[in-house]
Amino acid sequence: MKFDILTIFPEIFDAILGSSIIGRAQEKGLVSVDAHNIRDFSKDKHKKTDDYPYGGGNGLVMLAQPIYDAYRSIVKELDYKPHFIYMSPQGKPLDQKLVEDLSKHEHIILLCGHYEGVDERILEELVDEEISIGDYVLTGGELPAMVLVDAISRTIPGVLSNEESYEEESHKDGLLEYPQYTRPADFMGKQVPEVLLSGHHANITKWRRLQALRRTKARRPDMYEQLELTSEDKKLLKNNDDEVKE
Ligand code: SAM
Repeated sequence: MKFDILTIFPEIFDAILGSSIIGRAQEKGLVSVDAHNIRDFSKDKHKKTDDYPYGGGNGLVMLAQPIYDAYRSIVKELDYKPHFIYMSPQGKPLDQKLVEDLSKHEHIILLCGHYEGVDERILEELVDEEISIGDYVLTGGELPAMVLVDAISRTIPGVLSNEESYEEESHKDGLLEYPQYTRPADFMGKQVPEVLLSGHHANITKWRRLQALRRTKARRPDMYEQLELTSEDKKLLKNNDDEVKE
């Protein structure tokens, strides 16, 4: 999986994406992340990458030309068009389903905006989709781009080890994950649930499923509403005196 990132702050990507799981995935050749400095493509003598908005108003708008030339430098030898994403608070909200859909692309280019955003004409020309990481506004697209690279990379086979597997994680099947515990079994008088110490795998699986259902219902009623309960789920809830939704 290849990511090319268009940014005016390429140096900040290494610190986050060069270490831990994504760093390891890059070393193994499963993921490659290259940050390109838009400023290097500015034709202005002061290497300017922004200008005042037409029509007046506050702030600055990122220039189309350096972004376009940075894009051309990436694609000039390719015989396909990589999927081009602009990180934007106006974009489609990111969720696990969208992450999994995006992971089917082999090559993604991410554009990080700043200030008031980017000249609309470059978006019309290059962008396949705009993606938002939430309904709030950040100062730049770099953190959103890192969120996206991290979320997509961990779905790629081989990036997570078995111990880190994401199969049972929150949002995987429309459920939040069950609570987790590690040693010691007694922490400040608080005990780990008995069933987890029993070694009885079938009971542990049932307990975890029940906790995931209860937790999703309590914390994310919107997700619980969408959930299709299996007959096993209904039985489990009934046996534990929980309400069973139809
Ligand atoms: N003027 C823009 C607007 O009102 O839509 C906001 C620009 S914002 C201050 C600067 C840049 O940060 C954007 O161009 C975008 O790349 C990035 N950004 C800010 N919030 C974001 C979010 N929630 N999701 C994705 N990108 C975001």
